[in-house]
Amino acid sequence: MTPPPPASPAAGANSAAERDVAHVLHPYTDHKAHRAKGPLIITGGKGVRVTDQNGREYIETVAGLWCAALGFNNERLVQAAADQMRKLPFYHAFTGRSHLPLIELAEMLVERAPVPMSKAFFANSGSEANDTALKMVWYMNNALGRPQKKKVISRIGGYHGVTIASASLTGLPVNHKLFDLPIAGILHTSRPHHYHHALPGESEEDFATRLASELEAMIVAEGPDTVAAFFAEPIMGAGGVIVPPATYFEKIQAVLRKYDVLLVADEVICGFGRTGNYWGSQTMGMQPDILTCAKALSSSYLPISAVLVNERVYEAMSEGASQIGTWGHGYTYSGHPVAAAVAVETLKIYDEMDIAAHAAEVGAVMQKRLRERVASHPLVGEVRGVGLIGAVELVEDKAEHRNFDPARKIAPRLVGIAENHGLILRALPNDSIAFSPPQIITAAEVEEMVERFGHALDDLSAQLKREGLT
Ligand code: PMP
Repeated sequence: MTPPPPASPAAGANSAAERDVAHVLHPYTDHKAHRAKGPLIITGGKGVRVTDQNGREYIETVAGLWCAALGFNNERLVQAAADQMRKLPFYHAFTGRSHLPLIELAEMLVERAPVPMSKAFFANSGSEANDTALKMVWYMNNALGRPQKKKVISRIGGYHGVTIASASLTGLPVNHKLFDLPIAGILHTSRPHHYHHALPGESEEDFATRLASELEAMIVAEGPDTVAAFFAEPIMGAGGVIVPPATYFEKIQAVLRKYDVLLVADEVICGFGRTGNYWGSQTMGMQPDILTCAKALSSSYLPISAVLVNERVYEAMSEGASQIGTWGHGYTYSGHPVAAAVAVETLKIYDEMDIAAHAAEVGAVMQKRLRERVASHPLVGEVRGVGLIGAVELVEDKAEHRNFDPARKIAPRLVGIAENHGLILRALPNDSIAFSPPQIITAAEVEEMVERFGHALDDLSAQLKREGLT
């Protein structure tokens, strides 16, 4: 039997849960199911844990949305925001106006970039950063006098956001089907998931060669002079935590260089230590021309994202103004001073704690303990990941790598069970459960998280057995 949710809409007259159901339209939520179940209302947090309104504590295994890197009560970030609020709560960066947090943050990001970068542009979300990157590519190619070179290739299973262009870049049916997306000129190549898509006996290297050939065939079929850029996360996050096969980006980048196609690295999840290096691009051997980041940039205490461009892109964009008019793009809150000040403080903390080294060390514990505890579990098909990002995929048939019928909602059910074990989990496509805890997590907390997860999984098995369904 599925245990009751921790908070139900019937918890009392005009309870917060009832008010939620009455007034809130939630992102990424089944509205009908929500009316019946009600919200899980989080009221506080400390370190890697959050607390609900009934005082129950949970380990946040995905740092909220892969983002609260410094956990849920970092006082220095609070102070940085308060100080900047008093100094200058708002100013903008249009038409050459500037302010000090913006300058300092741009300088820090360019200094820390995985490859030589020239400039940083700011937005408020990962979606906006990727929309901006796409517009930069289009603007640049207009400025370079090659207006036909505009198509962009991303991957099935990739996640780049939900605005009209970034949702088009995203390669998931839920973001396309009922929204009449993708828009024209955005193409998707295969998901580099060896576990599901390799041919029988195909090595990771051979699978990578095949994927690169497929990409090349797509570019040639479209016409290389019409293909402008390739967008990729170093490790696909929301699409299932897909670690590409060995040699993948080496081979993909050889194709991109051959046809003068720019590489945009979406570091919205992988940036800032998550994979055990400062950038996922370093872990995966990517040399991007454009890099987008968000989330851990401010530990998500305030919304801010950035787009880094190399000198070649910047030069072309600079030429653009004289030929086709000013770079007519920017958000009121591009580089908002309070968000920028919090991001500057966040990056300073990362330096002090050597976030990449910490994530590599604790991430190794997470990868090892997850494998030890659940890899041989009858419901687990694959445990994958690098550093502090991982996933456990549930399957009905281990030998065949076959998932459960999605209608059975096995992973969402495990998410519900885990709440009773003090764990907030996130279900991804193919019944995969994500692990992306705050980067401050300690080895002891990793142990606790994995132990609680193991118990939740055992409960799920027991339930399925009782129901005679496995
Ligand atoms: N890119 C990646 C890799 C992401 O994971 C996300 C969000 N999960 C986005 C882009 C979009 O970011 P946002 O939700 O801030 O728009």
